[in-house]
Amino acid sequence: MTHKFDVVVIGAGAAGLFCAGVAGQQGLKVLLVDHSEKVAEKIRISGGGRCNFTNRDATPAQFLSENPHFCRSALSRYTPQDFIELLQRYGIPFHEKHKGQLFCDRSAEDVINLLLAECAAGQVTRWQPCSIKSIAGPEQTGTSGYQIESDRGLIEAPQVVIATGGLSIPKIGATDFGYRLARQFGLRLVEPRPALVPLTFDGDNWAPYAQLAGLALPVLIETSAPDASPKQRKKATVFSEDLLFTHRGLSGPAVLQTSSFWREDQPIRVNLAPGLDLAATLLRAKASSKKLIANELASLVPSRLADAWVSQDPALQRPICDATDKALLALAQRLADWQLTPNGSEGYRKAEVTVGGVDTRDLSSQTMESKQPGLYFIGEVVDVTGWLGGYNFQWAWASGFACAHALAAR
Ligand code: FAD
Repeated sequence: MTHKFDVVVIGAGAAGLFCAGVAGQQGLKVLLVDHSEKVAEKIRISGGGRCNFTNRDATPAQFLSENPHFCRSALSRYTPQDFIELLQRYGIPFHEKHKGQLFCDRSAEDVINLLLAECAAGQVTRWQPCSIKSIAGPEQTGTSGYQIESDRGLIEAPQVVIATGGLSIPKIGATDFGYRLARQFGLRLVEPRPALVPLTFDGDNWAPYAQLAGLALPVLIETSAPDASPKQRKKATVFSEDLLFTHRGLSGPAVLQTSSFWREDQPIRVNLAPGLDLAATLLRAKASSKKLIANELASLVPSRLADAWVSQDPALQRPICDATDKALLALAQRLADWQLTPNGSEGYRKAEVTVGGVDTRDLSSQTMESKQPGLYFIGEVVDVTGWLGGYNFQWAWASGFACAHALAAR
């Protein structure tokens, strides 16, 4: 038996669920399929279980893409306020945590239930688990639509939406399905790489800092190519966030944000004492104090950090009044502009998102339809990646909304 629908949405994550619900409510007969048994696992684990579902202040400036303008249209047609109003209609309590980031008061389950209710309102049929074996386009089928071979039988639809996300967290169902399908239909890809991910360092180089595991402190952080000119460096995005030392490297919001911009062999630069003129403060202390340098420093930065820095240089293991100006200036410089080159990242196992994906040159920014007529891509599978802070879900809602309205308009 062949199952006929107006639209098949593949991937029941944030973008797929939202798009299916909106399209169904426009009167389309929608089938939503996902190979996982559980619905929207990524939403469930997001935001530490409370789902940072949007950012009040989202603008295109917080998204990475080979074409930074691509996301503009969709983001302007479905805004954070639109999603906030949807939550309010369902009476879901939420709060602002930090820099415009909105989280559920209770749990991410509230957002999942909302999306399922929206799908029910649109009479969406959902098949889970359901594996897709192949998709043939109109060119292969000789009809005007797509034929999808699934483990629940053959499906026919004139329009197909790919919402299978990126590669992060394979253990909860991430696959390269969307990228393979894009290639099958001759669409270009921007090389995917893990992002919003902890960075790691070479064991020997990291040894002096491994003892700092667990220490968190506010920093300024940026990354740019080793041969970047001062002008290019000026353009680098600087984040003011908390940094967390781990046994293998660095994490915390500061490093997760920077990881999205980081490329292999590129150094990161960290100001471990932002807002302080360390050089002037240490030189002043030298004139009036007999304390050890480590103790003076501990009044400016966390004491564990002060100890780790001072213990690396015998010239600093003395009272501050006995230190040379040169040694103190070098210490201040190193803390204010700590440069280090990661040897890699924790990879897709720990990455919150995937940078890169289906090349936006082959997609319409108005509709998310690809150059292959009737085939759409939404959410994280597209080369649009948000910063940490609710932006990635906002892209899932906005791209899903733009797509759903285009589906209904055809
Ligand atoms: P997904 O939500 O990943 O959904 C893709 C779906 O496709 C999945 O259900 C998957 O099972 C299915 N699928 C994959 N392959 C196939 C296949 N071959 N056949 C059928 N189905 C398939 N973003 C925020 O904005 N705020 C946060 O608080 C936040 N926290 C996060 C925390 C963690 C730990 C992680 C990993 C990510 C977090 N993100 C957060 C990012 C956010 O979850 C994603 O950007 C978002 O879920 C992407 O939505 P999507 O629908 O495109 O993809």
